[in-house]
Amino acid sequence: MSGLLIEGVSHAFDDVAVVRDVSVMAAPGEVVCLLGPSGCGKTTLLRVAAGLERLQHGRVCIDDTVVADAAGGIHLPPERRGIGLMFQDYALFPHLTVRDNIRFGIGADTPERRTWIDQAIRGMDLDGHADSFPHTLSGGQQQRVALLRALAPNPKVLLLDEPFSGLDVSRRAQVRQQTLDTLKQAGVTALMVTHDPEEAMFMADRILVMNQGRVVQDGTPVETYFQPANAFVAGFFGPVNRLPGRVANGHVTTPLGRFAAAGLADGAGVSVLVRPEGLHLIVNADGNFTVLSARPLGGTSMVAVEIPDGVGKLTLEARVPGIFLPATGSRVDVSVDQDAAYVFEN
Ligand code: ATP
Repeated sequence: MSGLLIEGVSHAFDDVAVVRDVSVMAAPGEVVCLLGPSGCGKTTLLRVAAGLERLQHGRVCIDDTVVADAAGGIHLPPERRGIGLMFQDYALFPHLTVRDNIRFGIGADTPERRTWIDQAIRGMDLDGHADSFPHTLSGGQQQRVALLRALAPNPKVLLLDEPFSGLDVSRRAQVRQQTLDTLKQAGVTALMVTHDPEEAMFMADRILVMNQGRVVQDGTPVETYFQPANAFVAGFFGPVNRLPGRVANGHVTTPLGRFAAAGLADGAGVSVLVRPEGLHLIVNADGNFTVLSARPLGGTSMVAVEIPDGVGKLTLEARVPGIFLPATGSRVDVSVDQDAAYVFEN
């Protein structure tokens, strides 16, 4: 297939498995993010795809060409794979100007490529810096130079490892948007590693969530956020409240109401996970729930409420739009947005 295909890749360091039977498909022009906690094997998988790690099991194809095949003994070096690489430290050449950094690695220095470089420098707001050296640039400017250097040879596939991690939060949003626009304009297939769910959702057409060396979910940003495959994925995308329960007649009953437990056996112990923004509060002097605290967060307010769970007491956190600061000790009614609640077996 055109684009990038990673098939059945497993990888171990000193007999410790860090990538376990992972397959990734990225269609031409698609941006796919590998998302997961530190140590789950994302970077190793990217390095295997790049050819920086020797493939141990499986196959890697780039634009219909097999670039690595463990069984067939094929292992093309990185420079023959038609890929661009961009790492978190950017690795710009300090002794080369911005223009020369970007030009580096272009095989044929054709008029077309020279025009592309000029336009790309302008498009990335680097016009005044074409002849500057990297150390005189801000982090965001260096990031953009690194991106253009990776794209300049017109690679089929671009591999990016935490490309925004060196930037402060205020810069990140703008650089992310510029990077996404540039990738889409270039029509390049991109595989990007990140541990930041928000970044993955912003950048990706598809997210592969990894945990302990395996892909645990493959879906669009909306699917991975709103239809998590398991409790790990639900919790990785943001905080969740947990309500314990047991399945009876295909449902689980909690102090917050009844939830469908599709596919789970009667009697199974489960957790109902509810995102903080899935809880709706209404002040009611006769309400069943007690406010423990309420703090403003700017556009939203975080309200902790105590609910009687039948055994002991349970604290839930609700994120409510706008300023909503009921007094500690006041009573509220709580309802749940069913789309933001997930039932998983314990
Ligand atoms: P991070 O975001 O922290 O980089 P990651 O998900 O990208 O995490 P990897 O860098 O792929 O994870 O590392 C996976 C595991 O493999 C870790 O436990 C790491 O210590 C180990 N590891 C990575 N490279 C090597 C190596 N060259 N030799 C031995 N162990 C390694």
